[in-house]
Amino acid sequence: MTSATRKLLLMELSCPYCKRVLTKGTKVLLDAFIRDTHQDGQVALSALFGDYTVETELSIPERAIAEFRCPECDASIMLTLPCRLCGAPMASLNVESGGYLEFCSRRGCKGHALGGVGNIDDMISLMNKMCETPYD
Ligand SMILES: [Zn+2]
Ligand SMILES: [Zn+2]
Repeated sequence: MTSATRKLLLMELSCPYCKRVLTKGTKVLLDAFIRDTHQDGQVALSALFGDYTVETELSIPERAIAEFRCPECDASIMLTLPCRLCGAPMASLNVESGGYLEFCSRRGCKGHALGGVGNIDDMISLMNKMCETPYD
C-alpha cells in the first residue's frame, strides 16, 4: 500500500456530541467499559479504513462487548442498532469530511473495523466521499 493510499484511508473522526476530533495520528482514542470484566479504560482503534487493530491496556476477551464513550465529554457513543454480523450494539462517530461511521462494539467481530461493516454500498459511498476530498 502506498503512503498516498494510506492517507486516503485515514479517517478524521469526531465525537457526535462535543464535535471534538478524536483521531490522533493513525489512532482513534476512546474510553471503554468492558461489560464482561467490569474494566474501564482507554482503547485506541485504528483510524485506517477497514483495519480492525485495537490497542488497549485492558484485557478484552475475544467476543467481549465494549461500551465506548467520548474521552473528551464522556458521552456514550453507543447506538441501539445491533451489528448485522453478531447482534452486539453498534457505536457511531462522525466523519469530518461528512457523514458518520458505525462500528461493532464486540471484539473480534469483523464489523469492529472502522468502515468494515458488511454494507458495501455504504462503504463505496464513503470511499467516494473521501476520495473527492483534496489532499496535498
Ligand atoms: Zn465528546
Ligand atoms: Zn459485530
